[in-house]
Amino acid sequence: MARASAAASDVQSRTSLIPETLEDMEADAELKEHLAALEAAGQQALTREERLKRQRSLDALGAPSFYATCAEAGVAPLKRSAARIFQLNIGLYCNQACTHCHVESSPRRTAEQASRDTVDRCLDLLRSDRAAPGGGTITTLDITGGAPELNTNFRYLVEQAAPLGLEIIDRCNLTVLLEPGQEDLVDFLARHKVRVVASLPCYSEDNVDKQRGRGVFERSIEGLKLLNAAGYGVLGSGLQLDLVYNPGGAFLAPGQSKLEAAYKSELGGAYGIVFNRLLALNNMPIKRFADFLTRKGAMKDYMGLLVNNFNAAAAEHLMCRETLSVRWDGVLYDCDFNQQLDMAIEEGGKSGKQLTIWDISSITDLTSRPIRCDNHCFGCTAGSGSSCQGQ
Ligand code: SF4
Ligand code: SF4
Repeated sequence: MARASAAASDVQSRTSLIPETLEDMEADAELKEHLAALEAAGQQALTREERLKRQRSLDALGAPSFYATCAEAGVAPLKRSAARIFQLNIGLYCNQACTHCHVESSPRRTAEQASRDTVDRCLDLLRSDRAAPGGGTITTLDITGGAPELNTNFRYLVEQAAPLGLEIIDRCNLTVLLEPGQEDLVDFLARHKVRVVASLPCYSEDNVDKQRGRGVFERSIEGLKLLNAAGYGVLGSGLQLDLVYNPGGAFLAPGQSKLEAAYKSELGGAYGIVFNRLLALNNMPIKRFADFLTRKGAMKDYMGLLVNNFNAAAAEHLMCRETLSVRWDGVLYDCDFNQQLDMAIEEGGKSGKQLTIWDISSITDLTSRPIRCDNHCFGCTAGSGSSCQGQ
């Protein structure tokens, strides 16, 4: 711990990445146009339009629906199992504004933040699950965002959840560790044995900065060094550090084990960095990445790539089967992707009412419900998929 504190003091003089991110957003004509369209048409209209573009591409390819493809491959009906992972998207505020962000995060997303009420209700559900006979079904609390650590309730949530004995995951963008006011964040995470799952789409500075913003690679390396200094990724420390790769363009993630070996050799050789596992995930054809595909005239080819690489084994292990995804305002979803497309878990019957954390008495209320799939789901079943939870 002392080593982490010393390393933290080295970076105390670092300034926030946010001004650079905002400058880059202003200078990025494509992103500006996308955000202007979002503002003019509204999130829902743009989501509908995006869905239509995916569907037109699939129709042009003569591809069957996702459900039909699963059925033909003999994949069991897509129903929710007992939830094992409780994933809270605590808010969309982020110090970065990555080009492929599927949640449209940036420093401008200040409004969408989980309140103390939302966090307390999530904790109530988790506590009653743990108190259920046999210790309940939830094993993992997965906290995502945005940059989750920048939500004012993040540390409260971790502190309150830690005594429940769950695995706690922080989906960390690494640069947040260097934000002013976060100097003790690494110590905090280590103290509560939080597993850090961190995005680093390449070991090359150019590729990372192109996808995630100016200066992000250098700050990410600094962040990784702080984590290593606290014991993260170090054999026998009990502090797990996993990295996440996603492709820099319209292609599928390569095989995980070869890529992990390359990351370990490159990051270890150049910077002395160690980590546990690399998770290689595909880009989902939604939100900013869908916009990128449309601009490049590549939506049809990308959807074709996903369909042609349908993998029945990945379909059997979709995260939606055992994840409950909760939005910052408490609305419930089968997964984080559905959350961004506003495909909520709905009340039965014809009401179409979106269920929230306040509508259920226990997490098991949702077991056996059908999963809401659509044409974006091909992103989860291509190659090794994009909904791996790294378990
Ligand atoms: S760090 Fe993550 S949440 Fe933030 S903009 Fe990038 S992809 Fe989105
Ligand atoms: S997008 Fe969500 S609902 Fe669709 S297959 Fe992937 S995890 Fe399941």
